[in-house]
Amino acid sequence: MKSHQLKLYNTLSRQKEEFQPINPPFVGMYVCGPTVYGDAHLGHARPAITFDTVNRYLTHLGYRVRYVRNITDVGHLQGDADEGEDKIAKKAKLEQLEPMEVAQQYTDTYHRDMAALNTWKPSIEPRATGHIPEQIALVEAILKEGLAYEVNGSVYFDVTKYNQKTTYGRLSGRVLDELMSGSRDLDGQSEKRNPVDFALWKNAAPEHLMKWDSPWGVGFPGWHLECTAMSSKYLGSQFDIHGGGMDLLFPHHECEIAQGNACNHQDPAKYWMHNNMITINGQKMGKSLGNFITLQELFQGKHDLLEQAYSPMTIRYFILTAHYRSTLDFSNEALQAAQKGYKKMINGLRIAKKLKFQSTEGEIDIQQQEQITRSIEAAYRAMDDDFNTAQAIGHLFNLLKKINSLYTGQLKLHQLGQETFEKLISTFITFVEDILGLQEEKSEVQEGMLSLLLTLYSEAKTARNYDKVDDIRAGLKQMGFVVKDMKDKIDWAYEE
Ligand code: ZN
Repeated sequence: MKSHQLKLYNTLSRQKEEFQPINPPFVGMYVCGPTVYGDAHLGHARPAITFDTVNRYLTHLGYRVRYVRNITDVGHLQGDADEGEDKIAKKAKLEQLEPMEVAQQYTDTYHRDMAALNTWKPSIEPRATGHIPEQIALVEAILKEGLAYEVNGSVYFDVTKYNQKTTYGRLSGRVLDELMSGSRDLDGQSEKRNPVDFALWKNAAPEHLMKWDSPWGVGFPGWHLECTAMSSKYLGSQFDIHGGGMDLLFPHHECEIAQGNACNHQDPAKYWMHNNMITINGQKMGKSLGNFITLQELFQGKHDLLEQAYSPMTIRYFILTAHYRSTLDFSNEALQAAQKGYKKMINGLRIAKKLKFQSTEGEIDIQQQEQITRSIEAAYRAMDDDFNTAQAIGHLFNLLKKINSLYTGQLKLHQLGQETFEKLISTFITFVEDILGLQEEKSEVQEGMLSLLLTLYSEAKTARNYDKVDDIRAGLKQMGFVVKDMKDKIDWAYEE
């Protein structure tokens, strides 16, 4: 394992802590996955890319990450509270499908979109409906601890009683007394002893679509329960990192902590990481605001708010240009800037893969060597400082300048020497491809066609057929490529 002082911000302690896994080199990481009742949108892309990058960087450092990300296919009710219709069942009724057809359909499209964003698949991707017995066992355990109660076939977590032993609200910083005075039982009809209590198991009405037998009658699990059941099953009762979007911090993750402590008498995760939210043109994203953009709409440019299509790698790059704990605002302007940055990076990658060291006569330039070493160290320091991809990208651009200078001949290989040259190239490629997960978006045919056109271009130039030279140049530009006509070589690059 590489000796790195990796620090990460722990939402639970509200400070940056040195990362010390419970059982190195193994790292257990659980991230709350999607509720599969609709197309994946920007709100799905950010946590997926954030924790993919965490996974990639930890793996790069030599850790063996077991990354568990669940699929919520039951129990997530409208409004995220304990009342209302199941989101998937509602969609199923609307489209006259089986609930499992809905879940399958949107699990498939989620996978398609996450693959386009070049995220690694989780090591385990458990589904809530596949873990009903485990969830029932948890409810029984919490009842046995005396921290839950049954009413009319439903079981609720007794937050007040739990709070007498273990403080409730440590993650979100909410105080139980304030929560209680802020919440009212409006119709007085609730079965809960206290409005802050939450459902572990809900009794199912006859018309309810997804339901199972249980010791309390036919019903279905509460939404928060599945993550406790699946994380403890696959990662143990305490694991290293629990991640998710900030919107899940309360009540979802707070309830997971309560459930974990109730059953296992310890916090389920050592480190809690939350990515911040995405806004669109400064506004919160929401269906009612008309600014709800799915990933497919982005990739195809099919939304009233979009001036053009934005490729998956442009989206990935854009998300990485902000630190995960900062808010990120989507606008055409910002995305177009990201597209430029991404193309610069990929042009650099193409060059880096082509450059080879050849020993030439000349002096070493110590200043150049030091600049490169400093940028490499700074890029790692940025990642070690709570995965600061925004800063790391800045340092990569300094390395990119050196690569471009080598390519144009302004910087000579002998000035760097072989060792610095190899370090420059390998660090740049490793960061772009392995750590940031950026890749060139091209078809197999593209490379061949471009090389053919460049041969024609070169022949036309030799024959002094300048009209043809201009035609090829203009035609390529229209398709987003520029001809790089240099003294000793002809190449192409993406137009930035
Ligand atoms: Zn969860």
